[in-house]
Amino acid sequence: MIPPRYHLTFDQDWAPDWAVDDLIELLDRQGLTGTFFVTHGSPVLDRLRRSGRFELGIHPNFLPGSSHGNTPAEVVGSLMSLVPEAVGARAHYLVQGTPTLQAYAARGLLYDAASLRDDVAGLEPFVSWTGVVDLPIWFEDDVALQRGRPPGPHLLTSAPAGLRVFNFHPVLVALDACDLQGYAGLKANLASRGVRLTDATPTDFAPFVQRGGVGSFLRTLTTFLEERPHLRGTFLAEEARSARG
Ligand SMILES: [Zn+2]
Repeated sequence: MIPPRYHLTFDQDWAPDWAVDDLIELLDRQGLTGTFFVTHGSPVLDRLRRSGRFELGIHPNFLPGSSHGNTPAEVVGSLMSLVPEAVGARAHYLVQGTPTLQAYAARGLLYDAASLRDDVAGLEPFVSWTGVVDLPIWFEDDVALQRGRPPGPHLLTSAPAGLRVFNFHPVLVALDACDLQGYAGLKANLASRGVRLTDATPTDFAPFVQRGGVGSFLRTLTTFLEERPHLRGTFLAEEARSARG
C-alpha cells in the first residue's frame, strides 16, 4: 500500500519572532522539515534560512487595506522582495482565484497551498491551467478549532494514502489553543495597550495560554513523524515539480 505523505506547514501571520524560534527548535530537535509562509520581514527569516529545515513561501494578504499592496501583482511583488527565494504561496484567509494564480505564475511560483480540503482522503496535487500547482490542505489549526473538532489521534494514521498538508499558526501553537477564545482575548488585550502582535512577549501571552491544544498536538505529530520517516513527504516544491512532470 502507498503510504500517505505528511507535510508540516506554517503561516507566519505576524507572529512574534520568539514563537517562530520555538518552531525552528522543535523541527530541529525532531529532525523534520517544513514550509513557512511569510507575512512580514523580521530577523527570524534569516534564522529560518540558516536552519536548513524550512522551504520558504509567501503568505500574501489580498484583502482591502492590506499592508502588502493594492493589486495582486503589487501584493505578491512586495512579499517576493522580502523572500526572493520563495517557491510557493498560500494567501491569508486562504484567498484564491484567477488573479492570484496569474500573479503567482508571473513570479515563477510553483504552487498555491490554500485549498482547504480538511479530512478528505486521497488528496493529490492538481496542476492548474496557469501551471501553478494546487496543493490542498488536509488539516488547518484555526479551522479545526472553529469547527469544534480539536486535533487528535484520528489525524495520525497511516491509511488511507494521499497528501496530508498540516497548517499551523505559530501564535496558536504558542497559546496551545484549545479554542479561539484565548487568541481573541490576547488580541483584545494587546489592542487595549497599543501593542502589536509582532511585538508581544511571552509574558503578554501567558494569561491566555491553554493546555492540551494545538501546540500539544503539533508536538505529538512531530514525534509521530520522527518515528515514521516513511510517512514524511519531501518539500512542497518537490510535490509541485513531480505533479508538473
Ligand atoms: Zn493567514
